[in-house]
Amino acid sequence: MTQTSSRTRSNSKNNSSKRNSRGGSGSSFKSSRRSGGSGSSFKSSKSGRSGGSGSSFKSSKFGRRSGGSGRPSRSRNGRNPSGNRGGRGRSGERIPIDKFINTNPKAAQGAPVIEVTHTFSDFGFELDLVQAIDGRGFVKPSPIQDQIIPHILKGRDVIGLANTGTGKTAAFLLPLINRVIEKKAQTTLIMVPTRELADQINDELKSFTRRIKIFSTVCVGGTPIRPQIRSLRQHNHFIIGTPGRIIDLVKQKVLILNKINTIVLDEADRMLDMGFINDMRYVMSHMSESRHTLFFSATMSNDIKALVNDFLRDPAIVSVVQTRISTNIAQDVVRIAGRDKVDVLKDLLKEPELCKVLVFGRTKHGVDKLCQKLNKGGVNAESIHGNKSHFQRKRSLDRFKSDRVQVLIATDVAARGIDISEISHVINFDIPDTYNDYIHRIGRTGRGAHEGKALTFVG
Ligand code: ADP
Ligand code: MG
Repeated sequence: MTQTSSRTRSNSKNNSSKRNSRGGSGSSFKSSRRSGGSGSSFKSSKSGRSGGSGSSFKSSKFGRRSGGSGRPSRSRNGRNPSGNRGGRGRSGERIPIDKFINTNPKAAQGAPVIEVTHTFSDFGFELDLVQAIDGRGFVKPSPIQDQIIPHILKGRDVIGLANTGTGKTAAFLLPLINRVIEKKAQTTLIMVPTRELADQINDELKSFTRRIKIFSTVCVGGTPIRPQIRSLRQHNHFIIGTPGRIIDLVKQKVLILNKINTIVLDEADRMLDMGFINDMRYVMSHMSESRHTLFFSATMSNDIKALVNDFLRDPAIVSVVQTRISTNIAQDVVRIAGRDKVDVLKDLLKEPELCKVLVFGRTKHGVDKLCQKLNKGGVNAESIHGNKSHFQRKRSLDRFKSDRVQVLIATDVAARGIDISEISHVINFDIPDTYNDYIHRIGRTGRGAHEGKALTFVG
Protein backbone atom coordinates (compact mmCIF):
# COMPACT_ATOMS: atom_id res chain seq x y z
CA MET A 1 0.00 0.00 0.00
CA THR A 2 1.47 3.34 -0.92
CA GLN A 3 1.59 6.17 1.49
CA THR A 4 -0.74 8.36 -0.48
CA SER A 5 -3.39 5.81 -1.08
CA SER A 6 -3.60 4.70 2.51
CA ARG A 7 -6.21 6.16 4.73
CA THR A 8 -4.31 8.32 7.11
CA ARG A 9 -5.07 9.49 10.58
CA SER A 10 -4.14 13.07 10.47
CA ASN A 11 -2.52 13.03 13.85
CA SER A 12 0.10 10.55 12.73
CA LYS A 13 3.70 11.48 12.10
CA ASN A 14 4.40 12.51 8.55
CA ASN A 15 6.86 14.11 6.21
CA SER A 16 5.39 17.53 6.43
CA SER A 17 6.92 18.04 9.82
CA LYS A 18 10.25 18.21 8.09
CA ARG A 19 9.00 20.77 5.63
CA ASN A 20 7.30 22.79 8.27
CA SER A 21 9.96 22.68 10.91
CA ARG A 22 11.85 25.35 9.04
CA GLY A 23 8.85 27.54 9.82
CA GLY A 24 9.88 29.86 12.57
CA SER A 25 9.94 33.47 11.75
CA GLY A 26 10.92 32.87 8.15
CA SER A 27 7.55 31.47 7.23
CA SER A 28 5.36 34.15 8.66
CA PHE A 29 3.57 36.51 6.33
CA LYS A 30 4.75 40.00 7.02
CA SER A 31 2.70 42.58 5.25
CA SER A 32 5.50 45.08 5.61
CA ARG A 33 7.48 42.99 3.17
CA ARG A 34 4.80 43.49 0.60
CA SER A 35 5.35 47.18 0.78
CA GLY A 36 8.91 46.72 -0.30
CA GLY A 37 10.18 47.20 3.21
CA SER A 38 13.35 46.01 4.75
CA GLY A 39 13.02 42.27 4.50
CA SER A 40 14.07 41.88 0.92
CA SER A 41 17.21 39.81 1.25
CA PHE A 42 17.29 36.21 0.11
CA LYS A 43 17.11 33.49 2.68
CA SER A 44 19.10 31.00 0.71
CA SER A 45 21.67 30.34 3.37
CA LYS A 46 19.58 27.61 4.95
CA SER A 47 21.51 24.81 3.36
CA GLY A 48 24.84 26.38 3.96
CA ARG A 49 25.49 26.44 0.26
CA SER A 50 24.66 30.04 -0.18
CA GLY A 51 27.30 32.64 -0.48
CA GLY A 52 26.15 34.63 2.50
CA SER A 53 23.40 37.08 3.16
CA GLY A 54 24.15 39.83 0.71
CA SER A 55 22.20 38.38 -2.15
CA SER A 56 19.45 40.91 -2.48
CA PHE A 57 17.90 41.61 -5.86
CA LYS A 58 20.71 43.13 -7.84
CA SER A 59 21.12 42.39 -11.47
CA SER A 60 24.73 43.51 -11.18
CA LYS A 61 25.42 40.29 -9.37
CA PHE A 62 25.10 38.61 -12.70
CA GLY A 63 26.27 41.52 -14.79
CA ARG A 64 29.86 40.39 -14.62
CA ARG A 65 29.00 37.44 -16.75
CA SER A 66 28.49 39.56 -19.79
CA GLY A 67 31.26 40.94 -21.92
CA GLY A 68 33.05 38.07 -23.54
CA SER A 69 33.90 35.98 -20.53
CA GLY A 70 32.34 33.01 -22.19
CA ARG A 71 29.60 33.16 -19.60
CA PRO A 72 25.99 33.88 -20.39
CA SER A 73 25.27 37.52 -20.89
CA ARG A 74 22.44 39.07 -18.99
CA SER A 75 20.23 42.07 -19.45
CA ARG A 76 20.35 44.91 -16.99
CA ASN A 77 17.76 46.90 -15.13
CA GLY A 78 14.73 45.55 -16.82
CA ARG A 79 15.71 46.67 -20.31
CA ASN A 80 15.98 44.46 -23.30
CA PRO A 81 19.31 45.50 -24.76
CA SER A 82 19.09 43.91 -28.16
CA GLY A 83 15.42 44.48 -28.78
CA ASN A 84 15.17 40.75 -29.33
CA ARG A 85 11.71 39.57 -30.29
CA GLY A 86 11.44 37.04 -27.53
CA GLY A 87 10.60 33.41 -27.65
CA ARG A 88 7.91 31.32 -29.17
CA GLY A 89 6.50 28.36 -27.29
CA ARG A 90 5.09 25.28 -28.92
CA SER A 91 1.62 26.80 -29.13
CA GLY A 92 3.04 29.63 -31.17
CA GLU A 93 2.44 32.42 -28.67
CA ARG A 94 5.26 34.88 -29.00
CA ILE A 95 6.25 36.22 -25.63
CA PRO A 96 8.28 39.42 -25.81
CA ILE A 97 11.55 39.15 -23.91
CA ASP A 98 10.69 42.18 -21.81
CA LYS A 99 8.05 40.09 -20.11
CA PHE A 100 10.79 37.88 -18.68
CA ILE A 101 12.64 40.82 -17.16
CA ASN A 102 11.88 42.69 -14.00
CA THR A 103 14.98 42.80 -11.91
CA ASN A 104 13.63 45.08 -9.20
CA PRO A 105 10.02 43.99 -8.80
CA LYS A 106 9.26 45.83 -5.59
CA ALA A 107 10.34 49.19 -6.95
CA ALA A 108 8.75 48.59 -10.33
CA GLN A 109 5.35 47.59 -9.04
CA GLY A 110 5.18 49.70 -5.92
CA ALA A 111 3.38 46.80 -4.22
CA PRO A 112 0.51 48.25 -2.22
CA VAL A 113 0.08 46.87 1.25
CA ILE A 114 -3.05 44.84 1.85
CA GLU A 115 -4.01 45.40 5.45
CA VAL A 116 -4.88 42.31 7.40
CA THR A 117 -7.74 42.97 9.81
CA HIS A 118 -7.95 39.71 11.77
CA THR A 119 -5.63 37.71 13.96
CA PHE A 120 -6.05 33.93 13.95
CA SER A 121 -7.72 34.14 17.36
CA ASP A 122 -10.42 36.48 15.98
CA PHE A 123 -11.95 33.71 13.88
CA GLY A 124 -13.31 31.84 16.90
CA PHE A 125 -11.45 28.65 16.02
CA GLU A 126 -11.41 25.76 18.48
CA LEU A 127 -8.49 25.81 20.90
CA ASP A 128 -6.76 22.74 19.39
CA LEU A 129 -6.72 24.42 16.02
CA VAL A 130 -5.47 27.74 17.35
CA GLN A 131 -2.62 25.87 19.02
CA ALA A 132 -1.84 23.99 15.83
CA ILE A 133 -1.70 27.22 13.82
CA ASP A 134 0.64 28.65 16.42
CA GLY A 135 2.73 25.47 16.27
CA ARG A 136 3.13 25.92 12.53
CA GLY A 137 4.63 29.34 13.18
CA PHE A 138 1.86 31.23 11.37
CA VAL A 139 1.85 34.59 13.08
CA LYS A 140 -1.01 36.26 11.25
CA PRO A 141 -3.38 35.45 8.42
CA SER A 142 -2.37 36.22 4.86
CA PRO A 143 -4.75 38.64 3.05
CA ILE A 144 -6.75 35.86 1.35
CA GLN A 145 -7.08 34.02 4.68
CA ASP A 146 -8.02 37.24 6.45
CA GLN A 147 -10.84 37.99 4.05
CA ILE A 148 -12.22 34.61 3.09
CA ILE A 149 -12.19 32.61 6.34
CA PRO A 150 -15.16 34.48 7.89
CA HIS A 151 -17.32 33.70 4.81
CA ILE A 152 -16.38 30.02 4.85
CA LEU A 153 -17.12 29.78 8.56
CA LYS A 154 -20.60 31.15 7.87
CA GLY A 155 -21.14 28.43 5.28
CA ARG A 156 -21.24 30.78 2.31
CA ASP A 157 -20.00 29.69 -1.12
CA VAL A 158 -16.80 31.50 -1.99
CA ILE A 159 -14.61 32.34 -4.92
CA GLY A 160 -11.06 33.05 -3.78
CA LEU A 161 -8.75 34.74 -6.23
CA ALA A 162 -5.15 35.23 -5.19
CA ASN A 163 -1.67 34.84 -6.55
CA THR A 164 0.21 31.61 -6.08
CA GLY A 165 2.01 31.28 -2.79
CA THR A 166 -0.39 33.45 -0.82
CA GLY A 167 -1.77 30.79 1.52
CA LYS A 168 -4.93 29.64 -0.26
CA THR A 169 -4.56 26.12 1.13
CA ALA A 170 -4.81 27.16 4.76
CA ALA A 171 -7.54 29.63 3.76
CA PHE A 172 -9.88 26.71 3.07
CA LEU A 173 -8.38 24.05 5.33
CA LEU A 174 -8.54 25.98 8.58
CA PRO A 175 -12.27 26.80 8.60
CA LEU A 176 -13.09 23.31 7.32
CA ILE A 177 -10.98 21.63 10.02
CA ASN A 178 -12.75 23.81 12.56
CA ARG A 179 -16.10 22.63 11.24
CA VAL A 180 -15.05 18.99 11.64
CA ILE A 181 -14.01 19.62 15.23
CA GLU A 182 -17.40 21.19 15.95
CA LYS A 183 -19.52 18.79 13.94
CA LYS A 184 -17.84 15.47 13.30
CA ALA A 185 -19.98 14.10 10.50
CA GLN A 186 -18.53 16.19 7.73
CA THR A 187 -16.97 15.15 4.46
CA THR A 188 -15.12 17.52 2.19
CA LEU A 189 -13.92 16.65 -1.29
CA ILE A 190 -10.90 18.64 -2.42
CA MET A 191 -10.31 18.42 -6.15
CA VAL A 192 -6.94 19.54 -7.47
CA PRO A 193 -5.16 19.35 -10.84
CA THR A 194 -2.17 17.18 -9.86
CA ARG A 195 -1.15 14.30 -7.62
CA GLU A 196 1.64 16.33 -6.08
CA LEU A 197 -0.76 19.04 -5.07
CA ALA A 198 -3.08 16.46 -3.53
CA ASP A 199 -0.19 15.10 -1.44
CA GLN A 200 0.82 18.58 -0.40
CA ILE A 201 -2.66 19.48 0.76
CA ASN A 202 -2.84 16.26 2.73
CA ASP A 203 0.52 17.09 4.33
CA GLU A 204 -0.68 20.57 5.20
CA LEU A 205 -3.88 19.12 6.64
CA LYS A 206 -1.88 16.76 8.82
CA SER A 207 0.38 19.54 9.98
CA PHE A 208 -2.66 21.27 11.50
CA THR A 209 -4.30 18.17 12.90
CA ARG A 210 -1.60 16.25 14.73
CA ARG A 211 -3.60 16.42 17.92
CA ILE A 212 -7.04 16.34 16.35
CA LYS A 213 -8.68 13.11 15.17
CA ILE A 214 -9.28 13.82 11.54
CA PHE A 215 -9.27 11.21 8.80
CA SER A 216 -8.24 11.93 5.25
CA THR A 217 -7.44 10.02 2.13
CA VAL A 218 -5.73 10.86 -1.13
CA CYS A 219 -7.27 9.53 -4.35
CA VAL A 220 -5.01 10.17 -7.32
CA GLY A 221 -4.20 8.43 -10.56
CA GLY A 222 -0.94 6.59 -11.16
CA THR A 223 -1.30 4.59 -7.96
CA PRO A 224 -3.26 1.39 -7.34
CA ILE A 225 -6.97 2.04 -6.97
CA ARG A 226 -7.72 -0.81 -4.55
CA PRO A 227 -6.27 0.75 -1.41
CA GLN A 228 -8.20 3.90 -2.28
CA ILE A 229 -11.40 1.90 -2.61
CA ARG A 230 -10.72 0.31 0.77
CA SER A 231 -10.07 3.64 2.42
CA LEU A 232 -13.22 5.14 0.94
CA ARG A 233 -15.31 2.42 2.59
CA GLN A 234 -14.52 4.07 5.92
CA HIS A 235 -15.43 7.57 6.95
CA ASN A 236 -13.10 10.31 5.77
CA HIS A 237 -13.42 13.91 6.76
CA PHE A 238 -11.33 14.94 3.79
CA ILE A 239 -10.98 13.22 0.41
CA ILE A 240 -8.32 14.86 -1.71
CA GLY A 241 -8.01 13.83 -5.33
CA THR A 242 -7.44 14.52 -8.99
CA PRO A 243 -10.40 14.63 -11.42
CA GLY A 244 -9.71 11.42 -13.39
CA ARG A 245 -9.40 9.17 -10.35
CA ILE A 246 -12.29 10.83 -8.54
CA ILE A 247 -14.55 10.07 -11.50
CA ASP A 248 -13.29 6.46 -11.68
CA LEU A 249 -14.18 6.03 -8.04
CA VAL A 250 -17.58 7.64 -8.54
CA LYS A 251 -18.31 5.33 -11.45
CA GLN A 252 -17.30 2.34 -9.33
CA LYS A 253 -19.80 3.62 -6.77
CA VAL A 254 -17.29 3.80 -3.94
CA LEU A 255 -17.26 7.56 -3.87
CA ILE A 256 -20.81 8.80 -3.40
CA LEU A 257 -20.79 12.42 -4.37
CA ASN A 258 -24.18 13.40 -3.05
CA LYS A 259 -23.13 12.43 0.46
CA ILE A 260 -20.37 15.00 0.44
CA ASN A 261 -21.10 18.23 2.29
CA THR A 262 -18.39 20.47 0.92
CA ILE A 263 -16.37 20.64 -2.28
CA VAL A 264 -13.19 22.62 -2.74
CA LEU A 265 -11.96 23.20 -6.27
CA ASP A 266 -8.36 24.29 -5.82
CA GLU A 267 -6.29 25.73 -8.66
CA ALA A 268 -9.40 25.73 -10.80
CA ASP A 269 -7.66 27.65 -13.56
CA ARG A 270 -4.97 24.96 -13.81
CA MET A 271 -7.63 22.27 -13.98
CA LEU A 272 -9.20 24.10 -16.90
CA ASP A 273 -5.83 24.56 -18.61
CA MET A 274 -5.24 20.85 -18.25
CA GLY A 275 -8.52 20.03 -19.96
CA PHE A 276 -10.50 18.92 -16.91
CA ILE A 277 -13.53 21.11 -17.61
CA ASN A 278 -15.89 18.22 -18.32
CA ASP A 279 -14.66 16.31 -15.28
CA MET A 280 -15.24 19.34 -13.10
CA ARG A 281 -18.75 19.74 -14.47
CA TYR A 282 -19.44 16.03 -14.00
CA VAL A 283 -18.40 16.10 -10.36
CA MET A 284 -20.25 19.31 -9.57
CA SER A 285 -23.45 18.15 -11.22
CA HIS A 286 -23.49 14.90 -9.22
CA MET A 287 -23.26 16.63 -5.88
CA SER A 288 -26.11 17.50 -3.58
CA GLU A 289 -27.87 20.84 -4.14
CA SER A 290 -27.20 21.79 -0.56
CA ARG A 291 -23.45 21.40 -0.80
CA HIS A 292 -21.02 24.10 0.22
CA THR A 293 -18.73 25.08 -2.66
CA LEU A 294 -15.33 26.72 -2.35
CA PHE A 295 -13.57 27.76 -5.49
CA PHE A 296 -9.95 28.91 -5.69
CA SER A 297 -8.07 30.19 -8.67
CA ALA A 298 -5.32 32.61 -9.55
CA THR A 299 -7.19 33.89 -12.59
CA MET A 300 -10.80 34.33 -13.69
CA SER A 301 -11.25 33.37 -17.34
CA ASN A 302 -14.58 33.25 -19.16
CA ASP A 303 -14.68 29.45 -18.79
CA ILE A 304 -14.26 29.82 -15.06
CA LYS A 305 -16.98 32.46 -14.91
CA ALA A 306 -19.37 30.11 -16.70
CA LEU A 307 -18.55 27.26 -14.34
CA VAL A 308 -18.97 29.45 -11.32
CA ASN A 309 -22.33 30.79 -12.55
CA ASP A 310 -23.60 27.26 -13.05
CA PHE A 311 -22.45 25.77 -9.78
CA LEU A 312 -22.03 28.36 -7.05
CA ARG A 313 -24.88 29.93 -5.11
CA ASP A 314 -24.52 33.61 -4.34
CA PRO A 315 -20.79 33.32 -3.74
CA ALA A 316 -18.73 35.81 -1.80
CA ILE A 317 -15.95 36.84 -4.14
CA VAL A 318 -12.68 37.61 -2.44
CA SER A 319 -9.96 38.87 -4.71
CA VAL A 320 -6.57 39.78 -3.41
CA VAL A 321 -4.77 39.46 -6.72
CA GLN A 322 -2.35 42.33 -6.74
CA THR A 323 -0.19 41.73 -9.72
CA ARG A 324 -0.08 38.45 -11.51
CA ILE A 325 3.52 37.99 -10.50
CA SER A 326 4.57 38.23 -6.88
CA THR A 327 6.83 41.13 -6.08
CA ASN A 328 9.04 38.60 -4.31
CA ILE A 329 10.26 37.32 -7.67
CA ALA A 330 13.06 39.05 -9.57
CA GLN A 331 13.06 38.07 -13.23
CA ASP A 332 15.82 38.17 -15.78
CA VAL A 333 16.96 36.50 -18.99
CA VAL A 334 20.13 34.59 -19.75
CA ARG A 335 21.34 35.06 -23.30
CA ILE A 336 22.65 31.89 -24.82
CA ALA A 337 24.28 33.60 -27.79
CA GLY A 338 25.10 30.44 -29.69
CA ARG A 339 26.57 28.53 -26.76
CA ASP A 340 25.53 25.11 -25.59
CA LYS A 341 22.54 25.60 -23.31
CA VAL A 342 23.59 22.77 -21.03
CA ASP A 343 27.02 24.33 -20.53
CA VAL A 344 25.40 27.65 -19.73
CA LEU A 345 23.19 25.96 -17.17
CA LYS A 346 26.11 24.08 -15.62
CA ASP A 347 28.02 27.36 -15.27
CA LEU A 348 25.07 29.06 -13.65
CA LEU A 349 24.61 26.22 -11.20
CA LYS A 350 28.11 26.81 -9.88
CA GLU A 351 26.92 30.10 -8.38
CA PRO A 352 26.46 29.56 -4.64
CA GLU A 353 23.20 31.47 -4.54
CA LEU A 354 21.61 28.98 -6.93
CA CYS A 355 21.18 26.53 -4.10
CA LYS A 356 17.71 25.13 -4.80
CA VAL A 357 16.84 25.35 -8.45
CA LEU A 358 13.77 24.26 -10.36
CA VAL A 359 14.50 23.95 -14.09
CA PHE A 360 11.72 23.74 -16.65
CA GLY A 361 12.08 21.83 -19.88
CA ARG A 362 9.45 21.45 -22.58
CA THR A 363 9.39 17.70 -23.21
CA LYS A 364 9.62 14.60 -21.05
CA HIS A 365 12.48 13.32 -23.17
CA GLY A 366 14.30 16.65 -23.00
CA VAL A 367 13.93 16.72 -19.24
CA ASP A 368 15.37 13.22 -18.90
CA LYS A 369 18.28 14.01 -21.20
CA LEU A 370 19.11 17.23 -19.39
CA CYS A 371 19.02 15.43 -16.06
CA GLN A 372 21.46 12.80 -17.31
CA LYS A 373 23.81 15.44 -18.67
CA LEU A 374 23.79 17.39 -15.41
CA ASN A 375 24.39 14.26 -13.36
CA LYS A 376 27.29 13.34 -15.62
CA GLY A 377 28.67 16.83 -15.14
CA GLY A 378 28.66 16.39 -11.38
CA VAL A 379 25.45 18.30 -10.63
CA ASN A 380 22.97 16.62 -8.29
CA ALA A 381 19.73 16.68 -10.20
CA GLU A 382 16.42 14.81 -10.28
CA SER A 383 13.65 15.00 -12.83
CA ILE A 384 9.86 14.76 -12.80
CA HIS A 385 7.48 14.43 -15.72
CA GLY A 386 4.26 12.75 -16.66
CA ASN A 387 5.83 9.45 -17.75
CA LYS A 388 7.24 8.78 -14.32
CA SER A 389 5.26 6.80 -11.82
CA HIS A 390 3.71 8.49 -8.84
CA PHE A 391 6.33 6.85 -6.64
CA GLN A 392 9.23 8.11 -8.78
CA ARG A 393 7.82 11.62 -8.85
CA LYS A 394 7.29 11.66 -5.12
CA ARG A 395 10.81 10.37 -4.49
CA SER A 396 12.37 13.02 -6.71
CA LEU A 397 10.29 15.74 -5.09
CA ASP A 398 11.21 14.55 -1.61
CA ARG A 399 14.90 14.50 -2.46
CA PHE A 400 14.64 18.04 -3.79
CA LYS A 401 12.54 19.25 -0.87
CA SER A 402 14.99 17.90 1.67
CA ASP A 403 18.01 19.43 -0.11
CA ARG A 404 19.55 16.13 -1.13
CA VAL A 405 19.68 17.38 -4.71
CA GLN A 406 20.35 20.93 -5.84
CA VAL A 407 18.28 20.79 -9.01
CA LEU A 408 14.86 19.49 -9.99
CA ILE A 409 14.07 19.42 -13.70
CA ALA A 410 10.40 19.32 -14.60
CA THR A 411 7.86 19.61 -17.35
CA ASP A 412 4.99 22.06 -16.85
CA VAL A 413 2.37 19.49 -15.99
CA ALA A 414 4.51 17.78 -13.37
CA ALA A 415 5.34 21.03 -11.67
CA ARG A 416 1.86 22.48 -11.31
CA GLY A 417 0.96 23.44 -7.79
CA ILE A 418 4.27 22.40 -6.28
CA ASP A 419 4.80 24.26 -3.04
CA ILE A 420 8.36 23.85 -1.98
CA SER A 421 9.43 26.70 0.18
CA GLU A 422 12.77 28.30 -0.42
CA ILE A 423 13.28 27.42 -4.06
CA SER A 424 16.00 29.98 -4.78
CA HIS A 425 15.65 30.02 -8.57
CA VAL A 426 13.35 28.93 -11.34
CA ILE A 427 15.16 28.51 -14.64
CA ASN A 428 13.25 28.33 -17.91
CA PHE A 429 15.68 26.17 -19.85
CA ASP A 430 13.04 26.01 -22.57
CA ILE A 431 10.71 28.93 -23.14
CA PRO A 432 7.18 28.17 -21.93
CA ASP A 433 4.36 27.72 -24.40
CA THR A 434 2.34 30.61 -23.08
CA TYR A 435 2.81 33.58 -20.80
CA ASN A 436 0.31 31.99 -18.46
CA ASP A 437 2.59 28.95 -18.16
CA TYR A 438 5.47 31.32 -17.51
CA ILE A 439 3.62 32.90 -14.60
CA HIS A 440 2.84 29.52 -13.11
CA ARG A 441 6.40 28.30 -13.53
CA ILE A 442 8.01 31.24 -11.84
CA GLY A 443 5.36 31.22 -9.10
CA ARG A 444 7.19 28.16 -7.72
CA THR A 445 9.76 30.54 -6.25
CA GLY A 446 9.17 33.59 -4.07
CA ARG A 447 6.43 31.78 -2.15
CA GLY A 448 5.01 32.97 1.14
CA ALA A 449 7.50 35.35 2.66
CA HIS A 450 10.44 34.04 0.64
CA GLU A 451 12.12 35.73 -2.26
CA GLY A 452 13.25 34.14 -5.47
CA LYS A 453 14.65 34.67 -8.92
CA ALA A 454 13.41 33.52 -12.29
CA LEU A 455 15.83 33.20 -15.19
CA THR A 456 14.77 32.49 -18.75
CA PHE A 457 17.14 31.20 -21.41
CA VAL A 458 16.75 33.14 -24.63
CA GLY A 459 18.49 32.82 -27.99
P1 ADP B 1 -1.20 29.03 -2.64
O1 ADP B 1 -2.14 27.87 -2.54
O2 ADP B 1 -1.89 30.36 -2.52
O3 ADP B 1 -0.31 28.97 -3.84
P2 ADP B 1 -0.01 27.88 -0.30
O4 ADP B 1 -1.27 27.62 0.43
O5 ADP B 1 0.66 26.71 -0.93
O6 ADP B 1 -0.22 29.01 -1.39
O7 ADP B 1 0.97 28.64 0.73
C1 ADP B 1 2.29 29.01 0.40
C2 ADP B 1 3.19 28.85 1.61
O8 ADP B 1 2.87 29.81 2.61
C3 ADP B 1 3.07 27.50 2.29
O9 ADP B 1 4.36 27.05 2.61
C4 ADP B 1 2.27 27.78 3.53
O10 ADP B 1 2.56 26.88 4.59
C5 ADP B 1 2.69 29.18 3.87
N1 ADP B 1 1.64 29.92 4.60
C6 ADP B 1 0.31 29.92 4.36
N2 ADP B 1 -0.34 30.74 5.19
C7 ADP B 1 0.57 31.29 6.01
C8 ADP B 1 0.52 32.23 7.12
N3 ADP B 1 -0.62 32.78 7.53
N4 ADP B 1 1.69 32.55 7.72
C9 ADP B 1 2.86 32.01 7.29
N5 ADP B 1 2.99 31.11 6.27
C10 ADP B 1 1.86 30.77 5.62
MG1 MG C 1 -2.53 26.36 -3.76
